[in-house]
Amino acid sequence: MPLDTTSDSLTRDSYYEATACRGPQRPGLQGAQHCDVAVVGAGLAGLSAALELAQRGYRVAVLEARQVGWGASGRNGGQAIHGLACDPSIIEQQLGADAAKLAWDITIEALDLIQQRLTRHHIDADWQGGYLGLATSARKGAELARWADTIEARYSYPLQRIAPAEVPQWIESGRFHSGIHDPRSGHLHPLRYTLGLAQAAESAGVQLYEGTTVTGWQGGASVTLQTQSATGGGTLHAKRLLLAGNVYLQGLAPQLRSRIMPVGTYIACSDVLDERRCRALIPSRSAVCDTNFVLDYFRPTADHRMLYGGRVSYSTVSPMNLAASMRQRMLATFPQLRDVAVKYAWGGYVDITMNRAPDFGRLPSSPGGPDNVYYLQGFSGHGLALTGMAGRLVAEAMDGWAWPGTD
Ligand SMILES: Cc1cc2nc3c(=O)[nH]c(=O)nc-3n(C[C@H](O)[C@H](O)[C@H](O)COP(=O)(O)OP(=O)(O)OC[C@H]3O[C@@H](n4cnc5c(N)ncnc54)[C@H](O)[C@@H]3O)c2cc1C
Repeated sequence: MPLDTTSDSLTRDSYYEATACRGPQRPGLQGAQHCDVAVVGAGLAGLSAALELAQRGYRVAVLEARQVGWGASGRNGGQAIHGLACDPSIIEQQLGADAAKLAWDITIEALDLIQQRLTRHHIDADWQGGYLGLATSARKGAELARWADTIEARYSYPLQRIAPAEVPQWIESGRFHSGIHDPRSGHLHPLRYTLGLAQAAESAGVQLYEGTTVTGWQGGASVTLQTQSATGGGTLHAKRLLLAGNVYLQGLAPQLRSRIMPVGTYIACSDVLDERRCRALIPSRSAVCDTNFVLDYFRPTADHRMLYGGRVSYSTVSPMNLAASMRQRMLATFPQLRDVAVKYAWGGYVDITMNRAPDFGRLPSSPGGPDNVYYLQGFSGHGLALTGMAGRLVAEAMDGWAWPGTD
């Protein structure tokens, strides 16, 4: 079933949209334009790649069907966490121990890259350090401790253990058995971060078109994209194409579509709490994830609300009574918030791969033609930080491959 990308109700009821400043809509692409690299999608993956490419001297155009950050990047839980969505053992089994260590290290570099970008580009996105992984049973606590032992032993990455007796110091909830804490991970306002990255990309020379849907492309030594916007159709000629459209690409790249599955996940955000009351819930102000397969993820916001995510839906239909059902989830963890209203509730799709490892690669733009189409997808609900490094890596890959006619 095609995704319902026309329903804006879930987006419009978002705390992020209510607390970010978008500025005027950027114009759509008109006429015939040329660039070195065309990027489809102004989420964090596409914008990160565009910024990195522009900083290396390439002429880059980003085409966004809706607005910057309309997809997952402007709706997510805001949790920037170490590691990939899959267990490192999956990478180790397929690529060996050295590659698994490299992949882990890239995810830590991704956390540092967020900090660097916030500072360098003066992005005010409410960064707050700290991540708590909390187990919901003794069995899961033992599994989490074993996982932390492995991460420390193999990747030299320190994680603080939280024993059962210490849990009340970390969270005012009776749901949890034990946990781990990582001060290097953290959380932020993802839409402000995405909008800030878009501005940084534009300052570096990137041409950003909003309200511009890429409807098709033809390949060869270069790629020609057809676009549609409110003001009509346009054409973009590029030497390289980067597809960073997440689950929304759909028919544009059928060969990629079968590699990811859209899964709905949802978030509610409470009314503003008294600051002391909010701090008492999670004194370290860390982001939190539980260890359940269908996990709950939550965090305090900078203005002292509880932002609470969870549920999954394998249907592409928006759920009924979203705010009420998410409130029930929040109250299961924090029953003391029963007098607090939910002010916002929204959802979005994550791009899940079969083994939850990210899916990055290259394709020929025509049968037998050069591999001049790159793609970044399959972040599997763990892309807030990793998209940054994915963008840098794809820029390095393009930069390392001489343009036709120049080698
Ligand atoms: C509710 C929710 C909670 C999440 N929580 C977390 C979290 O706490 N931590 C974490 O690490 N990750 C989280 N994620 C995942 C994370 O948000 C994503 O991995 C990341 O944002 C993916 O970025 P992206 O740039 O690949 O895709 P997106 O941000 O979805 O951007 C893709 C863009 O491409 C555009 N596009 C698609 N097709 C076309 C076309 N044909 N023409 C023009 N434009 C097109 C779309 O309009 C869209 O704006 C969450 C995701 C959701 C939905």
